[in-house]
Amino acid sequence: MANIFEKIVNGELDADIVFQDDRVTAFRDIAPKARVHVLIVPNQVIETVDDIADEDEALIGHMVLVARDIARQEGIAEDGYRLMINCREHGGQEVYHLHLHLMGGQHMGPMVCR
Ligand code: 5GP
Repeated sequence: MANIFEKIVNGELDADIVFQDDRVTAFRDIAPKARVHVLIVPNQVIETVDDIADEDEALIGHMVLVARDIARQEGIAEDGYRLMINCREHGGQEVYHLHLHLMGGQHMGPMVCR
């Protein structure tokens, strides 16, 4: 069964898509944790960071460059932003389809709560 993000990539589930090409899809988070909160996902299913293969190196680099470009489009690049990937249970991953969080438009505070 397709996961939520796979359905968004395939157009089976609505999302506010800000960018899509043959390798990645970027869409706004449904419950944003910052003024700008976009998720960049590979179009192919890779469940977690731990499932990334060596041959996915260019794809992962592409995800980061897409995040960079979206940050510029959203007007948050100059002030800065946070890129984050959660991995499995201890990382707090909820959706098991690799995704890069792009968050900004405000100060993001300390990286972890203590
Ligand atoms: P994780 O905790 O796995 O790193 O992040 C999952 C993110 O996906 C969360 O920030 C959550 O708000 C977002 N999310 C979960 N379901 C949906 C959905 O159906 N649509 C969109 N656009 N975002 C979702």
